[in-house]
This record gives sequence, structure tokens and C-alpha cells, in this order.
Amino acid sequence: MKTLRKPDEMRAWSLEQKRSGKTIGLVPTMGALHEGHASLMRASARDNDVSVLSIFVNPTQFGPQEDYREYPRTFDADCAMAEQIGMDAVYAPDADAMYPANYVTYVTVERLTEGLCGRTRPIHFRGVATVVAKLFNAVLPDRAYFGQKDAQQCAVVRRMTRDLDFSIEIIEMPIIRQPDGLAMSSRNRYLNANDRTSAVALSESLGKAKALMDAGERAAANVVGCVHRALSGVPGLRVDYVEVVDAEEMTPVERIGGTVLLAAAVFIGKTRLIDNIKYKVPES
Ligand code: AMP
Repeated sequence: MKTLRKPDEMRAWSLEQKRSGKTIGLVPTMGALHEGHASLMRASARDNDVSVLSIFVNPTQFGPQEDYREYPRTFDADCAMAEQIGMDAVYAPDADAMYPANYVTYVTVERLTEGLCGRTRPIHFRGVATVVAKLFNAVLPDRAYFGQKDAQQCAVVRRMTRDLDFSIEIIEMPIIRQPDGLAMSSRNRYLNANDRTSAVALSESLGKAKALMDAGERAAANVVGCVHRALSGVPGLRVDYVEVVDAEEMTPVERIGGTVLLAAAVFIGKTRLIDNIKYKVPES
């Protein structure tokens, strides 16, 4: 497996693949890989002639009070996992290669980034859209794989890809969970034993809300209320948001219809965790 460190080196490798007629899959990550990332890599390795894993802890998507410095970095273990799955290259640029001196260009996706995580993390999606555009330009993939775990990110990347005319298929993969339901996340490493016990309440609360929708509830406020009730009193847990939004526009809905996203974020101690479910109203 090849390791590439600079955008021009990466692009030269990809152009060589393309010249020999090969399709390229890209799995963008910040490393500290787990089974969620593995599922994306397996899909890419299956669907494409060659696959690239990118590992880059992107400074522009972290706010000043967030965990950029502490974010787990496990490069050697990540490479071993990628190699075992059959990835062909790892693109791991350093921050100076991505953001050289006097860097001033950012991609802003409007409206979709205003609610949900965008409210608590105001510069986050500008950083995400910018880095994904830069990864696309270096890796030149035919397909790129993202997880529904970060559903707002998926919607933002899909819209940016369409709006900026990238000729790349965006593939959204299901959320991979621990046996008790907790969505896998690199940040789960921050949780101590008590936090970990509390953390399961997040996916359980969404499960209760889904049962309510399955039973016919169509008022978003009641679904949101159900999640809040399930989360109240959980030790060490503070709700950041619970919202029902249109699954593509990320704008709040009052009535549940079509396909909606029920998304929530909580703080457990200092660790922020997110989870969501997509709900498609059955046609009657
Ligand atoms: P990250 O390294 O956290 O930036 O995540 C890299 C990619 O893996 C993103 O597209 C995430 O949505 C995806 N991902 C993270 N956790 C999971 C999970 N539990 N299931 C599926 N995909 C995930």
C-alpha cells in the first residue's frame, strides 16, 4: 500500500491509475479507524479498481475550544487496517501541505449548514466542505464514501458536489453500531466507564422515537419531546440539540412526511456525541 503526503504526489498517482483505465474510490477520514470506517473501505474496495483512504485531522473544521489537539492519532494501526481490507493508497498530508502560508480560500455551503451541528459548530461545515473539495481535487475519485453517522455532512457534501460540478458519485453508508446500539465513533475513546454507560441512552432515545413514528406519530414536536424525555436524568448527559429536519435540505419540519432525519447531539462530560435515524413515512 502506497503512502502519499502531498497533493501533487497524490494527483500524479491517481492520474497514472486513470491512464490505465482504473476507477478510483475515496474514503475520507480523520483516522483513529474503527468498524464504521472499515465498512466504508470495504465498500470502496468492492466497487472500484483502486481505493484511497485519506487520513487528515483537518484543523479548519475544529472550533477554537474543540478537540483538534487531543483528537486520537493512530496512524500505524489505521494503515494496518486499510492494508488488510485491500486499500491501495493512503493519502495523509500534513496541515502545511493542505493549508500553506497565506491560505485564504474556503467553500461555503449555505442554508444546509445553519441548523443541527452547524449551530453549535459555526465554522465546522466550511472546514468540511473545503477539505473535501481539496481531497477530491487531489485524489480525483470516481466514487467517494461517507457515513450516515454524519448525516448533515453527507447532505453538505452531496450538495457541494452537485453545485460545484464535481463528477463524483457520493455514496452514503449505514451507521455501524456497538452491540448495545452506541454508534461507533473515534470520540468514543474519550468516554470513561460511567460515560460509556450513559452514552447508550442516545441511540435508545432515537429508537423510542422511531417506535412512536412507527405507531403513527406525525408531529415533529412530539417526536422531539419523546427523545428529550428519554435523555432527561441520564447521569452526566447534556442535550445539545434534538431536531427533525428534511433529509436533504436539513431544514426543520413540523409534520413528518416523505423522508426526514431525526438527529441529536449530546455532551457526555466534555465529549460530544451525535446520532440520527432517517425515517421514511410508509406509503399508505
Ligand atoms: P471521521 O474519521 O470521524 O471524520 O469519519 C470518516 C467517515 O467515516 C465519515 O464519512 C463518517 O461519517 C464515517 N463514519 C464514522 N463513524 C461511522 C459509523 N459508526 N458508521 C458508519 N460510518 C461512520
